[in-house]
Amino acid sequence: MNRGDEDGPRGGRGGVNLPALRGHNDALVLDLLRGAGPSGLGRGGLADRTGLTPQAVSKITARLRAEGLVAEAGREPSTGGKPRTLLRLVPGARHAVGVQLDRDELAAVRVDLAGRVLERWDAPLDFGAGPDAVVEAVVRAVRRVADPAGPPLGVGVAAPGPLDWRAGVLGRVTGYPQWEGYPLREVLAGRLGAPVRLDKDTNAGAAGAGFGDGSSVYVHVGTGLGAGLRLGGEVYRGARSAAGEFGHQVLSLDGPPCRCGARGCAEVLCLAAVARGDSAGAARIVGEAAANLVALLDVDRVLLGGRVVAAAPEAFVSGVRAVLASRSLTPAPPEVSLSPTSVAQGAAELALSPFFGRA
Ligand SMILES: [Zn+2]
Repeated sequence: MNRGDEDGPRGGRGGVNLPALRGHNDALVLDLLRGAGPSGLGRGGLADRTGLTPQAVSKITARLRAEGLVAEAGREPSTGGKPRTLLRLVPGARHAVGVQLDRDELAAVRVDLAGRVLERWDAPLDFGAGPDAVVEAVVRAVRRVADPAGPPLGVGVAAPGPLDWRAGVLGRVTGYPQWEGYPLREVLAGRLGAPVRLDKDTNAGAAGAGFGDGSSVYVHVGTGLGAGLRLGGEVYRGARSAAGEFGHQVLSLDGPPCRCGARGCAEVLCLAAVARGDSAGAARIVGEAAANLVALLDVDRVLLGGRVVAAAPEAFVSGVRAVLASRSLTPAPPEVSLSPTSVAQGAAELALSPFFGRA
């Protein structure tokens, strides 16, 4: 019986029983094994969750074992019949690299297939020095953290927005006109000899903020205020890579002018509070902006990150939590916490994503 053909894909992660889609099915199995962690999953569980036939799953897992990507994790508890072998992902089998380009510093990490950071490198950076100098700095940083034993699966690069994620080209980054239209992804892919993914720092923050199918928003408070969205387990970028321009929602109609041309944006109000040393006031503004987003999208979690948050983590977590609780339209407001991962780690996660069949 060919279950995939008969029932079609089940849920959002359905397998397809066609030889041409072998790569897709391999990625699906790897994704499920990553989600299962060290305790692993049996072939029956993999067949149920992918909608593939047990025979197809056996073929795929045999191939992945031969490639060293999958190993035995023990036996399933016996239910009377022959005990079944559990399989797990081998996290150390491959690696990826993530790089965060900030206005004045660079961070690079190497991660394993489970997304764990194995190596980290930080260096000062002058983003305003322009493309040539920054490309050299990225190449140095990637060589520094990459595993000498083999090339990375990919390199994820997180940069200040706006940028065109699909084309891999920078946009008009405020204060850095020399970057507009620069094809950073193509240039880096040529220099590094590895696939490169370029995305906004806020999207990288969202990508690294958790593994699974839940929905969350990553709010970044640094030199600006931005957000990345992760909806149903996938980063949501919008039609023109412009989703998450969170900082430019107007909170005060006749408020102070913002660099975007509008008045009273969350960003200009928040940064003014930060400049006064008023972390509680800044947190309240971030909370009001996040509450608007939660009311629109009903996300499970709000994660906070960025330099300003790192300087006063308690004030931001409790301040945002208080506003969300008071404005919640549902009995349980979303969880608020510090982001467990860095933007560089999220960039590495973006480089891993295609390997697991995720966008
Ligand atoms: Zn604005």
